[in-house]
Amino acid sequence: MLGLMQNQPLLISSLIDFAERHHGDGEIVSRRVEGDIHRYAWRDVARRARQVANGLDAWQLGFGDRVATLAWNGYRHLELYFGVSGSGRVLHTINPRLHPEQIAWIANHAEDQVLCFDLSFLPLVQAVHAKCPTVKHWVALCDADKLPADSGIPGLQSYETWLADKPGTYQWPVFDENTASSMCYTSGTTGNPKAALYSHRSTTLHAYAAALPDVMGISARDAILPVVPMFHVNAWGIPYSAALTGAKLVFPGPAMDGKSIYELIEAEKVSYAAGVPTVWQMLLMHMKPAGLKFSTLKRTVIGGSACPPAMINAFREDYGVEVLHAWGMTEMSPLGTLCTLKNKHLDLPKEEQMKILLKQGRAIYGVDMKIVGANGEDLPFDGKTAGDLLVRGPWVVREYFKGEGGAPLVRDAQGVEWFPTGDVATIDADGFMQITDRSKDVIKSGGEWISSIDIENIAVAHPAVAMAACIGVFHPKWDERPIVVVVKKPNAEVSREELLKFYEGKTAKWQIPDDVVFVDAIPLGATGKMLKTRLREQLKDYRLPGL
Ligand code: AMP
Repeated sequence: MLGLMQNQPLLISSLIDFAERHHGDGEIVSRRVEGDIHRYAWRDVARRARQVANGLDAWQLGFGDRVATLAWNGYRHLELYFGVSGSGRVLHTINPRLHPEQIAWIANHAEDQVLCFDLSFLPLVQAVHAKCPTVKHWVALCDADKLPADSGIPGLQSYETWLADKPGTYQWPVFDENTASSMCYTSGTTGNPKAALYSHRSTTLHAYAAALPDVMGISARDAILPVVPMFHVNAWGIPYSAALTGAKLVFPGPAMDGKSIYELIEAEKVSYAAGVPTVWQMLLMHMKPAGLKFSTLKRTVIGGSACPPAMINAFREDYGVEVLHAWGMTEMSPLGTLCTLKNKHLDLPKEEQMKILLKQGRAIYGVDMKIVGANGEDLPFDGKTAGDLLVRGPWVVREYFKGEGGAPLVRDAQGVEWFPTGDVATIDADGFMQITDRSKDVIKSGGEWISSIDIENIAVAHPAVAMAACIGVFHPKWDERPIVVVVKKPNAEVSREELLKFYEGKTAKWQIPDDVVFVDAIPLGATGKMLKTRLREQLKDYRLPGL
């Protein structure tokens, strides 16, 4: 017997409809690329999202066609979030920090038809547009009078000109909630980037879950500053959860230095902020010497990389701000765990509470997780035994876009399919997960991935290099930085400086290794694979130059 409740598909358009009807005057504040502050309300987002939908219809873009963005956090990006997905197209947020070659590759792979970009990325678009044959429409996210006269980009038009004659009314289409809504590429551990393709259902369920009190605790009383970029897994879903709850949104635009972030928090009475540890490090470095305090900030979600204990302490003790440590992945929309105390922990001494708060946290309903040993056997939740962390749930990836990278799921002894995260973790009896290591071969620097394979491939393209292994080493600001360990060919010569210079132009500047370490041999496993764990062990006393 089926239940007799209304069967409405969970669609992203319903979030913006709801926001308009129930908290239409809720504020959205953005620092624009131009430097000024723009403010309007959820009802304006809704109207302009409908104009976007009309604009895409006018171009006769098909259902499921991809619309790409190269944009900071701001109100026009927010309108695209709802207008593109709401009308049945797929929003493809591209990470502008990637090398132009990677961006062109990604745009081609996604077969983007439209590319909307902030003017800060004009040089980047000028560099790649000729290599993106699928893109038919180029839109600069600016006013008509800011459009550069001779950009060299065919048919480039300003966002405001594009929208100007489009009606603010639109009937959102109703379709299967499993339809694709947006996509985000992540660095592959082998080969090319792979895209997680989110659905309307996964996005709306994630938006509900993210707003829960033990998750991000988002409410209509909050003014939220998502410093986490909208090109990083949809700013952790905050734009959708804010629409659902009526929270005020404050967007930092391109200004993510400590001073700008602090000023925005104070000026807009931000109660809540979210970002990777590097951003908060810059904020604290700005505040401490100047003796600044927060007037309104109560909570901050820190994730994407492990949160250093000193940072949790500084926020809690010096500024009275609660830190929520979060863990997730592009493949998980992204939220998996958040670290909040349970009732039984409230009377514990501060140091005991800190030990818990440093963990990555407890699973959110919607994300089931477990740890397994080398043979796939379940490991106990004892807080001591570490194993490969597996997850499953309605906002966890089943397959990558275009079936790239084969079948990503593993089947356990009961026949249940799980997504292996590539993280190694313990889970304690209270369900708190703690990451202890990473089995995937990538480096995360300042919250951004660096593919070790790419770094190694460039090194071995040098005529003097026989073998190269790229590993991450600790860095106080960026968490990790890459170094490349090199075996030279017999009788060949190359210096550290020459090899580092060889990287220039072949990868994004920030992905170039910080150092080269020459060795006689790199440890290899039985199948000839480089044993990075052994190599890391050999170099455990290594320190980056200057640290
Ligand atoms: P991404 O797909 O870029 O969001 O990266 C996901 C990966 O970042 C995870 O699989 C972890 O390796 C790492 N990560 C994310 N959050 C944390 C955290 N709080 N602590 C440690 N590592 C994290």
